[in-house]
Amino acid sequence: RQEAGDERRRRRVAVVGAGLVGSLAALNFARMGNHVDLYEYREDIRHALVVQGRSINLALSQRGRRALAAVGLEEKVLATAIPMRGRMLHNIKGMTSVVLYDPCNNQCLYSVGRRQLNEVLLDACDKFPNIQCHFEHKLTAANLREGSMEFRNPKEEVISAGADLIVGCDGAFSSVRQQLVRLPGFNYSQEYIETGYLELCIPSKLGDFQMPANYLHIWPRDSFMMIALPNQDKSFTVTLSMPFEVFAKIQSKEQLLEFFRTNFRDALPLIGEEQLIKDFFKTRPQHLVSIKCRPYHYADKALILGDAAHAMVPYYGQGMNAGMEDVTLLTGILDKQLPLDKALAQFTESRWQDAFAICDLAMYNYVEMRDLTKRWSFRLRKWLDTLLFRIFPGWIPLYNSVSFSSMPYSQCIANRKWQDQLLKRVSGATLIGVILAAGAIYAKRFI
Ligand code: FAD
Repeated sequence: RQEAGDERRRRRVAVVGAGLVGSLAALNFARMGNHVDLYEYREDIRHALVVQGRSINLALSQRGRRALAAVGLEEKVLATAIPMRGRMLHNIKGMTSVVLYDPCNNQCLYSVGRRQLNEVLLDACDKFPNIQCHFEHKLTAANLREGSMEFRNPKEEVISAGADLIVGCDGAFSSVRQQLVRLPGFNYSQEYIETGYLELCIPSKLGDFQMPANYLHIWPRDSFMMIALPNQDKSFTVTLSMPFEVFAKIQSKEQLLEFFRTNFRDALPLIGEEQLIKDFFKTRPQHLVSIKCRPYHYADKALILGDAAHAMVPYYGQGMNAGMEDVTLLTGILDKQLPLDKALAQFTESRWQDAFAICDLAMYNYVEMRDLTKRWSFRLRKWLDTLLFRIFPGWIPLYNSVSFSSMPYSQCIANRKWQDQLLKRVSGATLIGVILAAGAIYAKRFI
């Protein structure tokens, strides 16, 4: 009877999308004993010469690390990742300054290659006999109620398949979500921002990095900005984010070089004029979209995770981390052995507010990165946050709670609100008194 019970719990789960979240979700469903079919539109990236798609590298932080640790992959991923201890800010004159992420506990972000990370996850999937990978399978139609799906391969052949549960991890433009949108009670909103992004590269020189490697480099320029993350091969992937109208004004090589000489004078020789011209005009700037929707499930038949459920603008470096955290949360709920429809409903209920919160935070951080990081008020607040973090264990700065803890995102915002209110109340002489007293305590304890 035990075996019959186990058999009933073993479902045929179809995970659509073998990106970062889909392959992690497949691993978790397989570990629970389900039979998993993992369908991916693209070819197997492990055999691809060129991988099409978004950002070459990503910032991995606590939530992603925790999800990777749960499937025994954290160490493997961190072994090739590059720690980034803080922001290195490049001003318009080319001078740099550093704002550490966590001077108290030395926590850092890790720059990981998207392809490498995806490969590690797919290799881990291969080790499970109950995961079947189907590459070059594009989901083109699905009936969620009946659990039926139709895929197309590159020869345009139609392949039909079925599943007890369909899990959409097929990114911001999810086909599984398109089916959910048709169902009554499904709320959906999307917002494109006026800013686009384009990727450039600072190559290695004489086998080494051209800038200090252990930082996330930022060139904040009010209405636009550029960032750079280090890669394993000692190059940097540079992301230029600007309003489309600014991109549109740059039509010729001369205009491009002039723009860089004015705004990114220290980066220009590192990228190289020729390479800049080639890379800039090679592609058009990409759009960025923020998507909020709910519920994330339909009965015990379908579920969406990752960008399919909550795509966000990339400025908090949390899209992948939040998607991986979805999997951690879901696995914890499924472990309780509730009926599946109740478990999926619980997932939606416990996730949507936090997903909405991180979408909002990501929008906010765009302003912070391109504008506020330059301001003295921002630096002062950062300094004060660090000081109070050291003295009062309950005082966790917003960035730290988002990036270096698993505090629910909505609570990170609530936390910041009471901190702001408190700081507002403590004004003038009181504020100065507190700082002096805190400084004295700190000096006594640590110096
Ligand atoms: P995706 O990575 O989009 O994967 C979806 C997969 O589904 C793909 O493999 C796709 O081929 C497949 N697919 C799509 N449609 C179908 C279909 N119909 N049938 C079958 N398969 C399909 N996040 C961070 O945490 N840190 C960062 O530093 C960071 N930087 C970013 C920088 C940029 C410029 C951008 C754009 C995003 C960044 N993100 C970052 C966000 C991160 O890239 C995403 O949140 C993450 O990739 C989401 O993973 P996913 O698996 O949900 O979706």
